[in-house]
Amino acid sequence: LINRPSEIQEARQELPILSDEGTVLEAVAENDFVVLCGETGSGKTTQVPQFLYEAGFCVRGMIGMTEPRRIAATSAAERIRYEMCKTEAEVAHHIRYENKTTKETQICVMTDGVLLSQMSSDFLLSKFGAIIIDEAHERSIHTDVLIGMLTRVVMLRRKRNIPLKLIIMSATLRIDDFIANKKLFPNLAPPVLKIESRQYPVTTSFAKQTELRDYIAAAYRKICKIHREEPAGSILVFVTGQDEVKLDLDENLSSFDLSSTALDATLPMRALPLYSVLPPSEQKNIFAEFEEPIRKVVVSTNVAETSLTIPGIKYVVDTGRHKAKKFSPITGVSKFEIEWISQAAADQRAGRAGRTGPGRCFRLYSSAVFQDFAKFPPPEITMKPLDDLVLGMKAFGIEEIKNFPFVTLPDEEALTNAEKLCVKLGALKRPHKRQVSGSITALGKTMNAFPVSPRFGRILSLSSQKNLLKFAIAIVAACTVRELVDANNEKIKALKEIWADASKSQLGDLLILLSVVGATESSKEPETFISAIGVRSQGLKEVRKLRRLITHVVRSMIVNEEEEKELAERKLPQPGAKECTLLCELFLAGFGDQIAFHSEEGEFKLPTGEKGKIYPSSVLAKKRPNIICYQEKMENHKGNTYLKCCHEVTAEQIVRIVPEYVTFNRNKNSTPKYDAN
Ligand code: ADP
Ligand code: MG
Repeated sequence: LINRPSEIQEARQELPILSDEGTVLEAVAENDFVVLCGETGSGKTTQVPQFLYEAGFCVRGMIGMTEPRRIAATSAAERIRYEMCKTEAEVAHHIRYENKTTKETQICVMTDGVLLSQMSSDFLLSKFGAIIIDEAHERSIHTDVLIGMLTRVVMLRRKRNIPLKLIIMSATLRIDDFIANKKLFPNLAPPVLKIESRQYPVTTSFAKQTELRDYIAAAYRKICKIHREEPAGSILVFVTGQDEVKLDLDENLSSFDLSSTALDATLPMRALPLYSVLPPSEQKNIFAEFEEPIRKVVVSTNVAETSLTIPGIKYVVDTGRHKAKKFSPITGVSKFEIEWISQAAADQRAGRAGRTGPGRCFRLYSSAVFQDFAKFPPPEITMKPLDDLVLGMKAFGIEEIKNFPFVTLPDEEALTNAEKLCVKLGALKRPHKRQVSGSITALGKTMNAFPVSPRFGRILSLSSQKNLLKFAIAIVAACTVRELVDANNEKIKALKEIWADASKSQLGDLLILLSVVGATESSKEPETFISAIGVRSQGLKEVRKLRRLITHVVRSMIVNEEEEKELAERKLPQPGAKECTLLCELFLAGFGDQIAFHSEEGEFKLPTGEKGKIYPSSVLAKKRPNIICYQEKMENHKGNTYLKCCHEVTAEQIVRIVPEYVTFNRNKNSTPKYDAN
């Protein structure tokens, strides 16, 4: 048993789930699968691992818990560790970049992706005695696939008499997709436990009219009104993205004349930003207690919707929108769209006002608009590229992917396209008979060992043959980390030398990334330099960790000692002309189906007949090479297509490097026909 300090014990007693401890443990003891539903804030994440621990479920192995987001995994581990007075090894987190588990680990909080990749070396998860899948309602791809896999693992472990307990936790009652799914639970639907929430009443009011354009201004008018008219209590404002969070704070609140608007002019207001890539030091401010009485205004993206609980929120201002990156697995186009949230999400947002006392939620849209919202957000598996999912599943030996017990079956065409791509990338064998793809190849296994998508996996796998690993690793790491550089490249353009070199080089945008990583790593004052060039310093840390991680994977595969020594160094030389050409060919090998030909006036033609332009901030935008290879196809709000992260290739390179995309005519003099499909 754990001896918790009395103040922690008292805080726990306040949580609704505490009174259900016995029921939860009984259900887990009697069933291998249990589904647990409870409002956000009822104590699922922080308490259920502790229940299992105290009931001795860690005797057989660790208690593992998965979260869809890294930020939730680290903060849950930290909170549980604190409440249990344990060390960082005993209650550890394990995310893509950081594995704190040791032999002493009793509770391990991971991202869902981490657990999934552990299953490739230990399918039965023999290290674990119980697995908790948290935030299952978010329906992330990894969580969905884990649930499918784990239902099989639990049955296998039962047969071998080394039972594994699976607890699926969800903040909403949207659980029919799980429990009524005969593929997942062919025999008996798992028991569902509902945690009575001790939610205080929240009075929700709709706007009479919906502000369609400047909803940010509407939000600020509402904040002022709350501050003038309502009693003390913090305000949580939901906006759509990080740019809005920051913009708001700078432009609106600094010019906010409190003395003239506030009735209670003695109560100052303090605005705090919150978004998922916020530096951890600033995240702490959200939870901090302030010495003087203030009204906190937390301006947040939807990270505050379910995964983080902010203390003291009494008012919620809901713009009703969020920004989603939407990917069409059919056309391969990505776009950021600001769109209406779902009814379930709106109710979640409102609920955040009733955590510590009765609260109010101000919706900046009318009830008629609300009625038109979708009931629930779409599962991620319907909106993301599926090539890494397909490769991962093949690596598990799953031959017919469409027979997998998916929580929601992905689009069949999207699945077929992903399988075909994996065949083209050489990761899967050509199909037999009616299958779309065959089993995994040796190259596919190597590709799958890397913590990146199959395209990048292929690039990394091939680069070791050409002594280009150190460059390829750095570029791939920089391409993979989200929002490493400012989207407009404004500050980087000011680095004249880097920009000029890259615009001359065939490597184009890839050379920019490589130079930025190289320059920051060799800078004498990295922090000053990093902020001067507009690179996100947390992002750069991720790049560094990812480089180390990939190097670690590579090390187990290469034999050349010289190269291994070189790889471990953080500093990067500039690649020479020959190396640049080879790197262009390597990246072509990963993106052979993403080619565009210059037709006229900066307009590029894709093999599908679509037209697009090079993304304006690309170093190649002005140069307009004859043929480019791009990594991402984006559509803006006007419906124009832009090609992002581009480098130059030649027709000769295409024919030589990716002949599988090129059809030759019998007539020798005719040009080869390029066909991405
Ligand atoms: P659920 O998973 O059901 O949403 P949690 O277990 O995350 O609930 O949170 C339960 C309560 O624990 C929250 O209401 C909050 O008061 C408290 N809590 C969680 N994380 C922290 C933290 N990092 N610091 C302080 N309090 C926290
Ligand atoms: Mg939770």
